[in-house]
Order: sequence, then C-alpha cells, then structure tokens
Amino acid sequence: MTPHRATTPFTEPVSRPPFTLGAIPMSISSESPYDLVLAGGTVIDPASGTNARLDVAVTGDRIAAIGEGLAANASRTIDVTGSTVLPGLVEGHTHIFQYVSAVGAPAEEAHLRRGVVAAADAGTAGASTFAAFRKLVVEANPLRIVNFLNVSVLGLIDFRFGELLNPDTLVPEDALATAEAHPDIVRGFKIRLSEDVVGENWEPLLKKSVALAEQAGLPLMLHIGETAEPLPVVLDYLRPGDIVAHCYTGKPHGILDGDRVQPAVTAARERGVLFDSAHGKSNLSFEVARRAIADGFLPDILSSDTSARNWRGPVFDLLTSISKLVALGAPLEECVRRATVAPARLLGLDAEGYGRLEVGGRADVTVVTETDEVTLPDAAGNTIVAPRLEPTVVLHGGAEVDIVPWRGLQSA
Ligand SMILES: [Zn+2]
Repeated sequence: MTPHRATTPFTEPVSRPPFTLGAIPMSISSESPYDLVLAGGTVIDPASGTNARLDVAVTGDRIAAIGEGLAANASRTIDVTGSTVLPGLVEGHTHIFQYVSAVGAPAEEAHLRRGVVAAADAGTAGASTFAAFRKLVVEANPLRIVNFLNVSVLGLIDFRFGELLNPDTLVPEDALATAEAHPDIVRGFKIRLSEDVVGENWEPLLKKSVALAEQAGLPLMLHIGETAEPLPVVLDYLRPGDIVAHCYTGKPHGILDGDRVQPAVTAARERGVLFDSAHGKSNLSFEVARRAIADGFLPDILSSDTSARNWRGPVFDLLTSISKLVALGAPLEECVRRATVAPARLLGLDAEGYGRLEVGGRADVTVVTETDEVTLPDAAGNTIVAPRLEPTVVLHGGAEVDIVPWRGLQSA
C-alpha cells in the first residue's frame, strides 16, 4: 500500500491544535466556538481504527475536535444521530476526462456532489492529451484529482477503438516525460489488456508497460476481463504494488475457479499485487463478488469505475458500489477502508491528509444514512434488493457541498 514515490504537492504543512482523537476538548467554554459540529453520528475512520458514537467539530477548513459533547461549544450543529460519519471518500478508479473523451463523466457532479473528495482517473488521458486533462479536469474541478496515465499516448478517447490496436502508440519516452513533468498528478500508469484493446500484442505491450512503470518508480494498473490468456499467466508479469482492476468481473479469465479464488490470485496478493473492484459498465458480477467475498477475498481498493457510460446506471456512484459489496457480505468498515485510506495511500494522497478523519487535518467529511431497500443492478443486469448508502452531509475543506440526488431515482 505504500506509494512508489512520496509526493506532497498542493497542500501546506498542517498545524495541529492541542486536541487529540477521542478527547474531550480542553475548554468547553472556549471564547471561540467551533464553526460546526456534526453531532451524534457513528464515526467510522478505518485509518485510526475509530468506530464509535462521537461528535466531529469543524473550524475553518480543519477538523477541530473529535469527541463527546462537542455540540455545547458550537456556533452551529447538525444532528446526525442514526447516521454514519466517514472521511471524505477517495475514488481509486474513475473516468472523468469530460469534453475530450467520450467516456468522461463530470468530476464534480459524479463525485464531489456524491461524497467523493479525491479521485484518480484511470487511463482516460494519455501523454498526447494530458495537457488538456490537466487544464480541463484537474485545474477546473474543486476536488483533488490525480491519474493513472494511459500507456498509449492516445488515452481512452472512445471505447469503440482500442487505444493499443496500433502498438506504436505506446511511446515510453512520452509517458515517462509526462509523469516526470507532472508528479503532482501522475501516480501510475494504466494498460487495458482486453483483446479488443491490444489485439494479439498483449505480451510485448504488457512487458513494455511494466518496464515503463519500473523506470518511473510508479505502479501499473492493469485492466482485466476478456484478456487473451488466463489471469495466472498475466499475473506473472506484475510487481508488488501493481494493481489488477475489475477483480469481480464476470467476463472470461477472472479471479475464480468455481466457487474459490484461484491459488495464483491468492499468491499474487501475497507477494503484494493489489486488486481493485472497479465496477464499471461491464465488470461487476454479483455472483463472482458473492463467491469471492465468501472465500475471504475483498478488493484492496473499492472503486466505482464511473464513466459517462455508467454514471446514470448501473454504477451511479462510489457509495452505491460500496452498498453493493456490503449487501453481498463485505463488512462496512472494511469497505470504507478500501474507499478512503487505502486508495489515499496508493495514490500518495495520504500525505495531503486525504482518506482519514484527524484533528488538525482536512475537514473532508461524508455523512451517510442507510435508505430503505432498493433494487440494485450489477453489470450483467442481475439485481439484488438491499439498502443503499446515501450522503446527507458532505463537507469539503469545511464547506458544505450541494449534494445531488441519487441518479437511480431519475429512472425509477
Ligand atoms: Zn476503468
């Protein structure tokens, strides 16, 4: 989970007030009350191991205190009794290169306004389109955005045309130069290894991609599902810290052998290869996920793989992806870990304070409530009936975000 390269762009050092996690504030009758207290919710912060009923106090853009009875010293209180208070979510895999890529979803509407404060675009931009990605996406949206740079200079412009069908579009020098010039954004590389993307060249392209990632000191994210070869063959090329996206895909060459996770997959995990759930339009099978979870196999990163093709269904958003895995038997706290501190560490965003609730840290908070049971689809059109996690309060740097309704309601 350690990023290959430590990066600390954008944020200034944090000065820490004299409160500690879980402590009663030192002075209840302080002359400067907290700006806002979220009172009475259950705080789940996997980074610190907190899972308890506590208040969260915010002053300015920082968390001022986490403890009991903080509302007594608040300028404003929001009663979140019965709700769950989480760190602002971190999306480990999405497609938000809006306007340039046909698959780009709007970052703010699809993510921030649904409780996600930081997100990694997974290979929508390549070296030749990166300048536009930086200007139109990273710099134009209020949430923190990083990326896995597509190894093809073209990036993922249009799903109908595989970006590596011409293998010459993998130009290591261009990818390396882009990563080196933009360490605040490029946190890894991405290759889609499906046959319709790489043709017959999967092996030389994968080898080149691993070598490129090695040279840059960054992880490689590998998209599976409909690869030319079974997964164990592909896994042999990956290094510790590399990431397999779509681990619950129902497409050929997935992680299962019958009801069990293949030994080669378990072995890859044991040597440090990471697995990302990356729901997407076509890569979450409830049946695969149910069996894998029953076999003790949770993803290392729980992501939505949001895109313009799926953000109005079947994916909707990251919280819906979390809700689905919880419904299939994954513990809520473990799901939250994989959508907060785990991707923050993978992406080097923990150094900027993302992925956790910490006194003195960023006031990024996502409060969720459980809805009544609804029908939720997977990528193949199978459904489950389960409660859904819905954001009710989202704080981004201490400011309240205008939440948009769940998009599943519009088609209901
Ligand atoms: Zn994707």
